[in-house]
Amino acid sequence: MGTSLARPGGLTGATLRETVRHETVHSVLTPRNPALAARTFGAYEKSHLWRYAEEALAEGYGTGSVAHGLTFPLRGGYGLSPARIIAESTPIVGAGGAAGYGVYEVHK
Ligand SMILES: [Zn+2]
Repeated sequence: MGTSLARPGGLTGATLRETVRHETVHSVLTPRNPALAARTFGAYEKSHLWRYAEEALAEGYGTGSVAHGLTFPLRGGYGLSPARIIAESTPIVGAGGAAGYGVYEVHK
């Protein structure tokens, strides 16, 4: 998401290809139903974790490099706070850990 497609004439070759692939991920992740799209965009706006994940996925796919994708959102001028991304992901990691522990306990 962003200004990268605003001036497609300024992009050439590999950069243009990467940008098109990047934006393709955004369009795939944006629902066609306008009401759903508005909700998705609301999450994108409010959640640093959501924005980080969407940009990392888009850039990783765009450039074909997972490592590049994972660091891109933090360098890309998205106003993302690593501390907030970690804070937002902690309940998810915690829930996953609890579920994993539950499975471990059941199979002991
Ligand atoms: Zn983007």
